[in-house]
Amino acid sequence: MTRILVTGGAGFLGSHLCERLLEAGHEVLCVDNFYTGARRNVAHLLGNPNFELMRHDVTFPLFVEVDEIYNLACPASPIHYQHDPVQTTKTSVHGAINMLGLAKRRRAKIFQASTSEVYGDPAIHPQIESYWGNVNPIGIRSCYDEGKRCAETLFFDYHRQNGLRIKVARIFNTYGPRMHPNDGRVVSNFVVQALKGEPITLYGEGLQTRSFCYVDDMVEGFIRLMNTGDNVTGPVNLGNPGEFTIRALAEMVVAQTGSRSTITYLPLPSDDPRQRRPDISLARETLDGWQPTIDLEQGLARTIAYFDGLLKSGAA
Ligand code: NAD
Ligand code: UDP
Repeated sequence: MTRILVTGGAGFLGSHLCERLLEAGHEVLCVDNFYTGARRNVAHLLGNPNFELMRHDVTFPLFVEVDEIYNLACPASPIHYQHDPVQTTKTSVHGAINMLGLAKRRRAKIFQASTSEVYGDPAIHPQIESYWGNVNPIGIRSCYDEGKRCAETLFFDYHRQNGLRIKVARIFNTYGPRMHPNDGRVVSNFVVQALKGEPITLYGEGLQTRSFCYVDDMVEGFIRLMNTGDNVTGPVNLGNPGEFTIRALAEMVVAQTGSRSTITYLPLPSDDPRQRRPDISLARETLDGWQPTIDLEQGLARTIAYFDGLLKSGAA
């Protein structure tokens, strides 16, 4: 049995990953400081004897005995990572140093949840892994973007210097059940607004684009990447190449919820990337033909059903 550490395991992606790893028969140690995650995301796993939940902040060292590490700890939504930007950079950088140190002591394989934000406001489209990005180092998104870029640097230096087995995934926008209802990300915002019949908040003219991957497809990509041979380090793009304007997303959410919500236009936040779409050729080649299987319409239907239940239960 493999003993696996998931940092940020009580968050949106982390909780789905813990679930999948337990289903595969592994022991899972979930570490989280509950900054944006919640115990309720993993409450259904607490009775499983192979699951353990530990409150811990990854900016401090951690001494545990594990064979594999998935490092997901980091707030992911702009309003959360901009709330305490110094802590965001510390989480990415000190967190990476601490988890890499743990991996080095244990000779454990380690996965990093990096991001499409390393490409910034990309000057090439779609984005390929060899592109170095177009990132503002001093803007309001920099704590996240530069923190994640520095974490990638640390991963590759530990790999070169200490022979560590690393797996770096560049994750593009992912959505699904257990996103925080108030975390400000576009899919959760629009779905919750539509279900409540409130105005849909479209930033700018809504012509900026994103590519949305359903959580189950993403988690499948994580596990396949972790299980590749030692020669595979990444970075590997993981995401759904279907590209939509944010306005089109708003219209889809209104149509699928049958909502009477209208669209309200708000100012575009600074440094908001204008377009984003992953080139997933490398993932397809390296991860045994991996590619998303759930399109936006299907994924939205499941996400809408989740938030509908949450709102009706009074939990949001
Ligand atoms: P999330 O906010 O739901 O999860 C992050 C988790 O990390 C939360 O449970 C939070 O409490 C925990 N955390 C934050 N700081 C911590 C710290 N210092 N110590 C311990 N735990 C801490 O976000 P998510 O969408 O599940 O994202 C998970 C990871 O994937 C993040 O690293 C994020 O940057 C990355 N990612 C996500 C997306 C996406 O679209 N969801 C896109 C790109 C990258
Ligand atoms: N966005 C929007 N309305 C919202 C929330 C987000 O129009 O209520 C836009 C935002 O400006 C961005 C896109 O949706 O262009 C995706 O935003 P999100 O915060 O989900 O992710 P990121 O910008 O990090 O890709």
